[in-house]
Amino acid sequence: MIEDKNKQRTQLSDLGEFGLIDHLTKNFEIKQSSTVKGIGDDAAVLDFKKNKIVVTTDLLVEGVHFDLSYMPLKHLGYKAVVVNLSDVYAMNANATQITVSIGVSNRFPLEALEDLYAGIMTASKVYNIDVVGGDTTSSNTGLLISVTAIGEVEEDNEVYRNGAKPNDLLVVTGDLGGAYLGLQVLEREKEVYKVNPNNQPDLEPYSYVVERQLKPEARKDVVKLLKNLDVKPTSMIDVSDGLSSEIIHICKQSKVGCDLYENKIPLDPQVISACEEFNIDSTTVALNGGEDYELLFTISQKDFPKIKANPSLSVIGYIREPQDGIHLVTRAETKIPIQAQGWKNFNA
Ligand code: ADP
Ligand code: MG
Repeated sequence: MIEDKNKQRTQLSDLGEFGLIDHLTKNFEIKQSSTVKGIGDDAAVLDFKKNKIVVTTDLLVEGVHFDLSYMPLKHLGYKAVVVNLSDVYAMNANATQITVSIGVSNRFPLEALEDLYAGIMTASKVYNIDVVGGDTTSSNTGLLISVTAIGEVEEDNEVYRNGAKPNDLLVVTGDLGGAYLGLQVLEREKEVYKVNPNNQPDLEPYSYVVERQLKPEARKDVVKLLKNLDVKPTSMIDVSDGLSSEIIHICKQSKVGCDLYENKIPLDPQVISACEEFNIDSTTVALNGGEDYELLFTISQKDFPKIKANPSLSVIGYIREPQDGIHLVTRAETKIPIQAQGWKNFNA
């Protein structure tokens, strides 16, 4: 679907490793004052003065984490950066630098890597971060991308998963389930395409959910918003695997229980209609879908007045004593224990 037959194909071997690195990284500019030395030496040099530093890494493997038949490389580059930044923001930190390492087989022409790096470049501009290094190697199988993100946070402002207290409120940003439904739409179109390559899919009715899958955004804005509202969450995590497993992480690490209210889970109208079409329950999707990259956090009740008017923040639950357990309170007001499922079980 994404291969453009007319596009030029330059063999990677024509450039050599150093030529390739030069070519891909020559347009990266330094924007952060904490970057002392970026790409070009044996290592980057950073200076964070008094601030604490957070570091996080993700490895993405073709065929496991992404499928190039519907994931354009530009989007893949963008998403590889965003998923890492999301982890930095989930610490209540500000992302400042990334490194990008790639393993590529010779089935990829230079033009493909240019697309990948165009996405990385766009993300670095949107999120105002510097690309300060990486590694480039050949791969015998598919494409591998590893991004390491670095961020800074003022002393005592970092937020862990383990600080939730009984009576705190559980809050989530944005809406949930879109990315999973976007994947269902794309998988379905891929099957249609296999049968009839001339069939042009109409993705317009699914634009929101497909975008949630192909071009997710990290909630940098929420870290800033919380700071402006003078709210420091008691615990925080990003929603990468689905609401249920993230709630369990917070509860286990904080040693608390939780009631999650089904009727408070924020859903986009397109998520609701796509759920009807695919005949899946929207709560199941929100709980187990994953890849939404929203932030899930707990706040002390005294902070509720500060956040209640904000349309991008939804109070979805209430933190309880550990012996109360972790439950979904359904629309019918029955209580069901929440179990971690995440991606894999959900697909099986
Ligand atoms: P070394 O041999 O010390 O690993 P390299 O020749 O691999 O150095 O890298 C040279 C410079 O280019 C380093 O600053 C490195 O961080 C950077 N770099 C290498 N590969 C990439 C990449 N894929 N993306 C961004 N920067 C890269
Ligand atoms: Mg190297």
